[in-house]
Amino acid sequence: MTKRLYYADVYAQEFDARIVNNIKIDGKPAIELNMTLFYPTSGGQMHDTGTLGEASVIDVIIKDDAIWHILDRPVNGEQVHGVLNWERRFDFMQQHTAFHILAGSFRNRLGVDTLSSHLGEDNSTIDVNSERIDELQLQDVETFANQVIWENRPVRAFWAGKFDLDNPLLRKKPDDCHEKIRLVEIENLDLDPCGGTHVTTTGQVGFVKITGSEKIRGYTRYTFIAGNRAWSDLQKRYSVITTLGQLLTTGVEGLPAAVEKLVQENKKLAKALQNFEKEAEEQMILELAQQTAGNLLVRKCYNDKTPETLRRVAGAVIKQSPGIFLLGSTGETPCVVFATTRPDLDLRPILKQILPLIEGRGGGSASFVQGGGTNSAGISAALETAAELLSD
Ligand SMILES: [Zn+2]
Repeated sequence: MTKRLYYADVYAQEFDARIVNNIKIDGKPAIELNMTLFYPTSGGQMHDTGTLGEASVIDVIIKDDAIWHILDRPVNGEQVHGVLNWERRFDFMQQHTAFHILAGSFRNRLGVDTLSSHLGEDNSTIDVNSERIDELQLQDVETFANQVIWENRPVRAFWAGKFDLDNPLLRKKPDDCHEKIRLVEIENLDLDPCGGTHVTTTGQVGFVKITGSEKIRGYTRYTFIAGNRAWSDLQKRYSVITTLGQLLTTGVEGLPAAVEKLVQENKKLAKALQNFEKEAEEQMILELAQQTAGNLLVRKCYNDKTPETLRRVAGAVIKQSPGIFLLGSTGETPCVVFATTRPDLDLRPILKQILPLIEGRGGGSASFVQGGGTNSAGISAALETAAELLSD
């Protein structure tokens, strides 16, 4: 059994150990040590990283009761010096302790039990046995949790005695009640069997913030951040809010109203633009219908019309006026639409011949075809060629 040094001193960052096994796991070098500071992924907490000799520790796992350090390169010799990636470990200690504080706070303030937790690299989650916690109740839990942090209460880890298992604060009774159960206690708040790493006083958590929630069949999963993560997040949000304030020339308090005003204005503009486009389409249809009088073939090249607009215009005009209509548009979405009322014509071979000019694809029925391409400069030539082919 590897001696778990982090239980003796959770703040130790370096150690020396003897290599007792040196193998490969899934093709990667893996070593077992007689003692280690590296925490293996377990109990909802992720593994530590760092170095063992010249090698980087990329994963730490428990396999057949042994702790295996998965390395990026082999380590030789009998002894090895280990150094933890302390930033990562301390971050997990902050998140993990924050989890216990939140679990105790949900129970203390709302009488709600915690079901499970996950401490990830970006976000941590806590699942609580209720789906009816409202915003005010949640704020109360959050405020209480932060007060516990600022009171700097002791966080104690110890092996359970018989008396501890009867403690009313005990959040989850271990299935197997024996003295090798490790308990973690936050003074007057929470007592829970746990094998993870925690800070020794609540103050080191800094502060905790619940950042999201998701209801899942009878319970609620809350996302939270604490410590350095919460601080980095605050800095990021401050930066975003400051930029928004500068863009909208308002302070933090004025932001919701300024954004609301923008949204309303945008809706009005969108409505106005829609009306304007509708009128423009009607005008296009009218002009095309006038041009076809005494002139069987009408060719028209527009600027910046969408394929949908051309389709609607062509569809409308052939209902009003007999003729052949060759419409095209240059711009962001170069496109053509050909439509005719003449039953003796098949426009498909015509389209097929002009598509290379606009580097496009298309299709349709004998009397109504459309094509879209990438070469805007070819639209005019495509319409001209189509007209020549039809006059033949
Ligand atoms: Zn814990």
